[in-house]
Amino acid sequence: MPELPEVETIRRDLEKEIVGHKIVDLWYDVPKMLQPNPATVEKIIGKHFVSAGRIGKLLLLGLENDGTIGIHLKLSGQLFIRKQTDKEDRFTHVAFKFEDGRELRFTEVRKFGYVKLIENSRDLKKITSEYGPEPLTKDYTIDVVRKLLSKSSRATKTLILDQKKIAGVGNIYADEALWYSKIHPETPGNAVPEKQVEELYIGIIKALEQGIEDRGTSIDDYLDIYGQPGKHAKNLNVFRQQGQPCSRCGTIIKKIRVNGRGTHYCPKCQTL
Ligand SMILES: [Zn+2]
Repeated sequence: MPELPEVETIRRDLEKEIVGHKIVDLWYDVPKMLQPNPATVEKIIGKHFVSAGRIGKLLLLGLENDGTIGIHLKLSGQLFIRKQTDKEDRFTHVAFKFEDGRELRFTEVRKFGYVKLIENSRDLKKITSEYGPEPLTKDYTIDVVRKLLSKSSRATKTLILDQKKIAGVGNIYADEALWYSKIHPETPGNAVPEKQVEELYIGIIKALEQGIEDRGTSIDDYLDIYGQPGKHAKNLNVFRQQGQPCSRCGTIIKKIRVNGRGTHYCPKCQTL
């Protein structure tokens, strides 16, 4: 599933490619992927994209005269910028066609992803207020992490995956952040010592920044809007590294399940 670094990479590229361009047509073949319904989303025809934003894993593409297109890629969605004459991409279910002969294609094998027209800033605020602070902004502080952990005895990994508390951290970067901060993923939040709370705060930033620098992790379906894979897979310390030695201590990385999620950690660096 694309997480913050992958969606941020897409956002930055979209900013270069679609802002200032006019949508002259909208094509789709799975109506339920257009929310609240296709007729509403079709109101964007004739408008220009004016900005490319993001909250957590949700892309927020601004339109002239208010209105925002939200795009969520869910597990397997991909966005590609192509010429309208380029050969088709399999599983394309939505395409925004531009005035200059290019189009933005949304491919989604599982059809869980969606395109949503958010019609005004009040509705936009309603959506963004459901997310916790963004880890790479000033709203994200040690206090956010301290509060999140201290109030619960649930597994630390489960807590940091809660999008309402911290936006954008998913399975890959949660495992990496816990490795950086030497916290066992199952440690109850309220049992994490203060020193490690600080390290987790920093570890989350470190894991995400590294992912963005590498333009994301391509171990499942993720590709950027030009169809290129990210380079972060080779820099992963624990995620999907089970059976490999820990780069810090040489102990073999283990895989367990935490609250149903595949979880990777070093049994020596991250003790319970
Ligand atoms: Zn280790």
